[in-house]
Amino acid sequence: MPEPRRPLVAANWKMNKTVVEAREFLERLGPSLEDLGEVDVVVCPPSTALSATAAQANGTSVRIAAQNMHFEESGAYTGEVSAAMLVDVGADAVVLGHSERRQLFGETDEALARKVPAALAAGLLPILCIGETEAERDAGETETVLRRQLSADLADVDPARLGDIVIAYEPIWAIGTGRTATTEQAQEAVSFVRGMLAGRDADAAASARLLYGGSMKPGNASELMAQPDVDGGLVGGASLDPDDFLAICQAAA
Ligand code: PEP
Repeated sequence: MPEPRRPLVAANWKMNKTVVEAREFLERLGPSLEDLGEVDVVVCPPSTALSATAAQANGTSVRIAAQNMHFEESGAYTGEVSAAMLVDVGADAVVLGHSERRQLFGETDEALARKVPAALAAGLLPILCIGETEAERDAGETETVLRRQLSADLADVDPARLGDIVIAYEPIWAIGTGRTATTEQAQEAVSFVRGMLAGRDADAAASARLLYGGSMKPGNASELMAQPDVDGGLVGGASLDPDDFLAICQAAA
């Protein structure tokens, strides 16, 4: 009998919050997390607040994730940071392949195929985002897109390590739009993802945590995370308010 998967809820702050604001958020959140129970809480601050939030979260149950990284260890890559540098400032995890990075900053599946193993090798938990556009869904191409992204982005990951990666299904049409996927759409997509992982390693697929992301809020989090293959959420807008984020964490526990 496989171990039950521990839910994970991540706050993707995107380009929001100064160091002071990030600290205030953690101060508000901290005491309430004591009673939360079985859920991993991850906060993804902008890179300028990584070090301060990691220091503040030290000794608490909150884990800190960066929002991107480069796959090389060091070198002439102006403006980039490596996995080892993230570990150096106290990050535990890294979000990779967010649709905003894919759509606005030219993130490619080729780069992600190098970033995911580099994160794992450095000891970071990769949170890989995948998802289709509205046009792709309307054209009935959702599974084709998910298959293409997963196959490419995880191509160089040892199958036995697939369970050490968190995959966030984030339909692009639901991100920041207020439109949430239905529970059926979310379950269908994540169960497709789990099936794909199982094609490479059944045990890893059973233990991999799969999240839903896209306009998750306190009012819809419970039903989305109650789906059998949805193990938590990646939360953007609603994660900026500590009370809303806490309510979503409570819904996951
Ligand atoms: C995200 O940025 O990953 C996200 C899901 O955003 P939102 O919750 O605002 O849709």
